[in-house]
Amino acid sequence: MRILRFRTSPDDPPTWGWLAGDRVGVLQGSPFGEFRREEAARPLQEVHLLNPVSPGKIVCVGRNYAAHADEHDAEVPEIPLLFLKPPSAVIGPGQPILLPPQSQRVEHEAELAVVIGARTRWIAPEQAGDYILGYTAANDVTARDLQFRDGQWTRGKGFDTFCPLGPWIETELDPADVLITCSVNGQMRQMASTRDMIFPVPQLLAFISSIMTLEPGDVILTGTPAGVGLLVEGDEVSVEIEGLGTLTNPVQSDPHGR
Ligand code: MG
Repeated sequence: MRILRFRTSPDDPPTWGWLAGDRVGVLQGSPFGEFRREEAARPLQEVHLLNPVSPGKIVCVGRNYAAHADEHDAEVPEIPLLFLKPPSAVIGPGQPILLPPQSQRVEHEAELAVVIGARTRWIAPEQAGDYILGYTAANDVTARDLQFRDGQWTRGKGFDTFCPLGPWIETELDPADVLITCSVNGQMRQMASTRDMIFPVPQLLAFISSIMTLEPGDVILTGTPAGVGLLVEGDEVSVEIEGLGTLTNPVQSDPHGR
């Protein structure tokens, strides 16, 4: 099932929905608990899609593809390398990524994102699927110059709009071997399979849940393949996950930062 959040007009509250082909139906209740699906009668193009989840926390994995670690002359980690992005960074499909005035080098990072479905701590890899609601596409937008200058990554990864998520949550995806691609203005920049992850999804969930409690709606960004590159004003960046869909966002300068 494909789960989404939408509005039909700017004044409407966000509504849970589900997608059948190119039609949207209301999902009464919550996908994290009891719900009932109403008939999918509304054309997808008539609704305004929102970020499909509002996470309490976003746990990210760095250097989880060897070819990406190589392009930064960085070591492949022996255990997963974790960092956090703030929930205030989340935007939905079509919302602009804002280039902050503090950075001259903002880059895209196409990633598969895991959406946690149930509260958990200390899970074994083989139990991980029981705690996953589904998957969505993510862009781990990064101010690379600030990331490298600071040494730790909070500023470079944490600006508002630096975590596009969407277009929906796919509950049926098998994350073991799906293609991730990133294109900018229609030009391919990144393409790899999740089978190239150093730590696959079940191992990541086991590792992260040995540190912190995972809550329903929390999101895990599983790392980006090689090919990260610059975003400039006027670009349109798309992250596509095979079997899931495409998350597209325009890029603008931050109008408050001038
Ligand atoms: Mg990343």
